[in-house]
Amino acid sequence: MSPTSELQAELESASGAYEEFASRGLKLDITRGKPASEQLDLSVDLLSAVTGDDVMTPSGVDTRNYGGLDGIVELRELFSPLLKVPSDQLLAGGNASLTLMAQALTFALMHGTVGDSRPWGQGPHKLICPVPGYDRHFTLAESLGFELLSIPMDSEGPVVAEAQRLAADESVKGMWLVPMYSNPTGITITEERARELAAMPAAAPDFTLLWDNAYGLHHLREQHPEVLDILSICAEAGHPERPWIFASTSKITHAGAGVSFFGAGPETSGWIRANLSKISIGPDKVNQLRHLRFFSDPAGVEEHMRQHAKIIAPKFDAVLDTLERELGGRDLAQWTEPDGGYFITLTTLEGTADRIVKLAAEAGVKLTPAGATHPYGLDPLNNIIRIAPTMPTVGDVELAAQGLAACVKLASYEKLLA
Ligand code: PLP
Repeated sequence: MSPTSELQAELESASGAYEEFASRGLKLDITRGKPASEQLDLSVDLLSAVTGDDVMTPSGVDTRNYGGLDGIVELRELFSPLLKVPSDQLLAGGNASLTLMAQALTFALMHGTVGDSRPWGQGPHKLICPVPGYDRHFTLAESLGFELLSIPMDSEGPVVAEAQRLAADESVKGMWLVPMYSNPTGITITEERARELAAMPAAAPDFTLLWDNAYGLHHLREQHPEVLDILSICAEAGHPERPWIFASTSKITHAGAGVSFFGAGPETSGWIRANLSKISIGPDKVNQLRHLRFFSDPAGVEEHMRQHAKIIAPKFDAVLDTLERELGGRDLAQWTEPDGGYFITLTTLEGTADRIVKLAAEAGVKLTPAGATHPYGLDPLNNIIRIAPTMPTVGDVELAAQGLAACVKLASYEKLLA
């Protein structure tokens, strides 16, 4: 058979498989990076961890009252070794780290930072965005008027030479990073790469690493990387105030009712405290006390995360096994094999991602819109698809991956024959 007729035969077979899948009338959704309710159930005792007659912290703070802007000390001490931030430089806040990111960036835009008192908002302001990345980072920064500059990532993290080239412009104020099990690739930044980012020359005196460690404790496997002590790494490189560390318990306890954290160098933690004091008298300490009682100690958090892994690792494996079985050895797509976090990235043939997403929707499999992983929703190669396996059941996620694979084959052979 000639190469063209071989491709033609593949297209016919892919088309038949797709039609067969679509005819089942399924309704599957692998768009949402949310915990499944079985995961939320793991933290049900949180809801009764503080009762009417037991509202005091161990150090005697009445959690019902105003005050305590930094968050309760015992919870900050509990998370300090896990996040590798000294407890007096770690603030515990409300339920969303995304809100802390918005606040920190807004303060910098309005008032400048510890490294430069000139408000970022006074002139052009830009952020470096490793891609593919987290869509909400991009939409938040865009809404605050930042220009977004994409750079590529490799298997060890963002490509530093590209970041350094852009950071030579003084209006480039910082860079988004998800250091562990990145959304959406699952890549973890190596220590060597972190040291390069810490030492990287930048024209802005207050060039900032927006170090969003949203998945730092979210391992899928027993063997796993450790959270990097980015504060010490940056201090050793002569930039002690460079990282702003964000984290939360959103995907540890209850996604809508967790505790967020902000960690930074000695001066920047004072800076955020001073700025936050203008907009809040203190966070929800009752919820922080619930978390303290629920976990007791850092080992309690680690054990809890192992329970999450037992629920979600089989879902990741179901997707990865299905992709391998259906697409392995065909040169139509590659995918990441994360050891933690919430996502898998599928890289398809250039120009096919939006077609695959559309075909999947028509066959009953909802996928994150193509482009969502890039600034301004524009994936220039149109070849990145984010898969979120945690919400559906193992059976549904496997079916969704089968449907996705059928769409990849159909769109790829259409493209190869075009
Ligand atoms: N950062 C990253 C990288 C995320 O993927 C998410 C949620 O998907 C968040 C932050 C949101 O965190 P939070 O719930 O603390 O606002």
